[in-house]
Amino acid sequence: MRVVRTPAELTEWTETARRQGRRVGLVPTMGFLHQGHLSLMVACRERADVTAVSIFVNPTQFGPTEDLARYPRDLEGDLEKCRAAKVDTVFAPEAGAMYPPGHRTFVEVTGLQDGLCGGRRPGHFRGVATVVTQLFALARPHVAVFGEKDWQQLQILRRLAVDLHLGVEVVGMPIIREPDGLAMSSRNAYLSPPERTRALALSRGLAAARARWAAGERGAEALREAVRAELGAAEVREDYVALVTPDTLEDLQRADRADARLLVAGFVGKTRLIDNTAIGC
Ligand code: AMP
Repeated sequence: MRVVRTPAELTEWTETARRQGRRVGLVPTMGFLHQGHLSLMVACRERADVTAVSIFVNPTQFGPTEDLARYPRDLEGDLEKCRAAKVDTVFAPEAGAMYPPGHRTFVEVTGLQDGLCGGRRPGHFRGVATVVTQLFALARPHVAVFGEKDWQQLQILRRLAVDLHLGVEVVGMPIIREPDGLAMSSRNAYLSPPERTRALALSRGLAAARARWAAGERGAEALREAVRAELGAAEVREDYVALVTPDTLEDLQRADRADARLLVAGFVGKTRLIDNTAIGC
C-alpha cells in the first residue's frame, strides 16, 4: 500500500492506473476508521481495480464553534486498517496542500445544501462539496463510494457529480451499526459510557417510527413524534427530525411512498449524532 501526502502524487498514481486501463475507485474519509468506513472500502474494491482512500479532516466543513481541533485522529491505526482492507493507496494530505494560501474557490449545491444538517451547520456542505470536488479532480475516479449514514451528503454529492459532468459514479452503501443499533461514527468516541447508552435513542426512535408505520400510521407529524419520544426519554436534545423525499430532500406530510426517508440529528451532551432510515418499505 502506498501512502501519498501531496495532491500531485495522488494524481500521478491514479493517472498511471487509468492509463493501464484500470478502473479507479475512491473512498473519501476523515479517518478514525471504523467498520462503516471499511464496508465502503470493500464495496469500492468490488467495483474498481484499484482503490484509493483519502484521510483528511477537512477544515472548511467545520463551523467556527465545531469540533475541528478535537476531531479524533489516528493515522497510524488507520493505515493499518487500510492495509488489512487491501487498499492500494492512502492519500493523507496536510490542510495547506488542499487549501494553499490564495485558495478562493468553493462549490455549492444550492437548495440541497440548505436544509436538515445544512440548516443547522451553515457552510458545512459548501466545505464538503468543495473538498470532494478537489478529490475528484485529483484522482479522477471512475467510482466513489459514500455511506448512507450521511444521507443528505450522499444526495448532494450525487447531484454534484451529475451537474459538473465529472464522470464519476457515486455509490451509496448502507449504514453499518453496532450490535445494539447505534450507527457507527468516529464521533461516538466522544461519548462517555452513560452517553453511549443515551445515544441509542436515535436508532431506537427511528425503529419506533418504523413500527408506527408498520401499524398503519402515515402522518409525518406522528412519525416524527415517535422519534421525539425516544429522544426525550433519553434526554437527547433534538436538532431536527424530518420526513423527506429521498433525493430532493423535500418535506413530506405523509409517508405513503415506498422511498420516504426519515432523518434525525440530536445532541447527546455536546456530541452531535445523526441517523436515518427508509420508511415506507
Ligand atoms: P467520515 O469519515 O465521517 O467523513 O465518513 C466517511 C464516509 O464514511 C462517508 O461517506 C460516510 O457516510 C461513511 N460512513 C460513516 N459512518 C458510516 C456507517 N456507520 N456506515 C456506513 N458508512 C459510514
